Amino acid sequence: MKARDRLRIAMQKSGRLTEPALELLNRCGLTFRQSRDKLFCFGEGEPVDLLLVRDDDIPGLIAQGVCDLGIVGRNVLDEYRFTAGMGGPALAEWRPLGFGRCRLSVAVPQEVDYRDASQLQGMRIATSYPGLLGEWLRERGVDAGVVTLAGSVEIAPRLGTADAICDLVQSGGTLVANQLREVDVLLESEAVLAGPQALPSDERGDMIDLLLKRLDGVIQVRESRLLLLQTSRGALDAVIRLLPGGPQPTLLPVAGQPDQLMLQALCAGEVSWRQLEEIKKAGAREMFVLPVEKMLA
Ligand code: ATP
Ligand code: ZN
Repeated sequence: MKARDRLRIAMQKSGRLTEPALELLNRCGLTFRQSRDKLFCFGEGEPVDLLLVRDDDIPGLIAQGVCDLGIVGRNVLDEYRFTAGMGGPALAEWRPLGFGRCRLSVAVPQEVDYRDASQLQGMRIATSYPGLLGEWLRERGVDAGVVTLAGSVEIAPRLGTADAICDLVQSGGTLVANQLREVDVLLESEAVLAGPQALPSDERGDMIDLLLKRLDGVIQVRESRLLLLQTSRGALDAVIRLLPGGPQPTLLPVAGQPDQLMLQALCAGEVSWRQLEEIKKAGAREMFVLPVEKMLA
């Protein structure tokens, strides 16, 4: 079989991860022409195409070599490792992507008293994640019945088909609505860039390398802010001490005001109103916080 010379990325066709994943790829300079069946999207500028599928299929597609990379929840990737992917080619989490955050948790009916996992002994636990739950129970030496359900896991206790559940939680609203209480976290999840453990040694490997570099830049700037301000030389030390982390600030002279300096600092995260007020109190003025559009270190 002739090796593919274009890179192929799998992502969720329609769901929570679709929009942010596409936006992230766009920010990396990848744009796609959507085909009519919407399964395959041809990449326009770079030799990178998209395959739009159910998120559960993504790890398998990478393992089979149908796709080179995938954007998928860590929960789905890790579940695959403990179920269908067991004994198959190892998959790696190349980058955490910072969206689709949620956790895989155990929840019990509100009135049940819970101290630790040993209380699940002998219980029936409903979940769509039998692999991860089974492993977690095994590690704790707990023998419980795992009831595998494809969906609507949260109503199982009310239906009497389970005593507890293990499901994804974001705000916890669904749990409260079903009179359940989150008692233990198995996994903190977010969308990740998944791929094979080893990069292909042909041009696709070079493409992946390039994509990872762009991705790192995009992820870094997404959280970065450029802080601009003016300060007197006398107040400079106090102002610098209050700057939120990041590399050394740049100082520039201010025309016609020899005692004043303009300071420019890259901050690693959001700069809050409170931080600005503190810096101002230390002697800064004319302060601006700007988002960073692109960065290539
Ligand atoms: P499909 O299988 O059709 O692709 P799905 O119903 O399995 O879709 P979504 O509900 O869109 O998938 O969730 C996709 C991913 O979003 C989850 O696997 C998880 O990583 C993440 N996610 C973030 N918050 C939540 C949440 N509150 N509930 C479920 N998933 C969440
Ligand atoms: Zn799914």
